[in-house]
Amino acid sequence: MRALTFLARRFVAGDTVDEALDAVRALNHDGLKVTLDNLGEEVKNRAQAEAARDEYLSMLRKIAQAEVDCNVSLKMSQFGLNLDERLALDNLTAVVKEAKKLGNFVRIDMEGSAYTERTLALFYSVLKEYDNVGVVIQAMMRRSAADIAKLVENKVRVRLCKGAYKEPPEIAFPDKADVNANYDKLVVALAAGHAPIPAFATHDDERIDFAITAAEGAGLKRDQYELQMLYGLRAKRWRELARAGHVVRVYMPYGTHWFPYYYRRIRERKENLLFVVKGIFQ
Ligand SMILES: Cc1cc2nc3c(=O)[nH]c(=O)nc-3n(C[C@H](O)[C@H](O)[C@H](O)COP(=O)(O)OP(=O)(O)OC[C@H]3O[C@@H](n4cnc5c(N)ncnc54)[C@H](O)[C@@H]3O)c2cc1C
Repeated sequence: MRALTFLARRFVAGDTVDEALDAVRALNHDGLKVTLDNLGEEVKNRAQAEAARDEYLSMLRKIAQAEVDCNVSLKMSQFGLNLDERLALDNLTAVVKEAKKLGNFVRIDMEGSAYTERTLALFYSVLKEYDNVGVVIQAMMRRSAADIAKLVENKVRVRLCKGAYKEPPEIAFPDKADVNANYDKLVVALAAGHAPIPAFATHDDERIDFAITAAEGAGLKRDQYELQMLYGLRAKRWRELARAGHVVRVYMPYGTHWFPYYYRRIRERKENLLFVVKGIFQ
């Protein structure tokens, strides 16, 4: 773990996929599933976008060889969406195709609002040919109810999160209470709409409890939805939920381009910074 400094270590499983796979094995051993993310976004040129694609192809093969319970999550700006839509689509298609061959699943993370429409468009275009791909919707965005309605209609696998990017009030709810209320409303839409394996991604106990109740109310069995949390946050809670019989999937980043991810974690919760600072002095 050479390049990984003490700052990022709490949230990032290692510099390389092999280091991350050791952490995946340990979590699988404890009954937790994982989604693996190679850190990176907003690439600067074609070569970086293609290198990211190749890293995911190699990651998928290593996951298959290791026989771990682990899918992958990626960002479209890491695959070149900020440079050229065709390039991003080709890279995404190559990864989804390889995942299909290996019996695995690809989740497209959702980035800031500059990418929302284009990310969904690329997702729908890959969905025409492949069913092993899903997307993320952010409850903070005012457009999300309409997006979820269309995704439910298309029987898409959706991960619902609150949203980690700073957005203007015209397009996103500025108040936490409104984001939470929208989160719960979207949970109901996913559960009642019988979208396949909805993933409720949050560390918020009120939201988690609401999601479990809504899923049960809609008649979903425990293996028909997932609770998801980030590596490094609330590890005790993952285990409690898994012990109680829930499917818990941990989002595990690895790699050396950790700063933007790390910054989002610190910005959304000052305790995350305190945790890191405490670690430095221990
Ligand atoms: C699996 C996963 C995938 C994600 N993917 C995306 C994505 O693709 N795009 C995107 O924009 N965002 C993504 N996010 C980030 C997400 O949007 C939020 O920024 C992040 O999860 C923080 O929101 P929260 O739901 O945890 O609740 P917050 O509003 O941050 O926290 C609510 C409450 O949760 C509890 N809590 C939170 N953290 C802790 C802690 N460390 N210890 C104890 N209690 C805690 C506290 O009670 C807190 O008041 C993802 C998150 C997860 C979990």
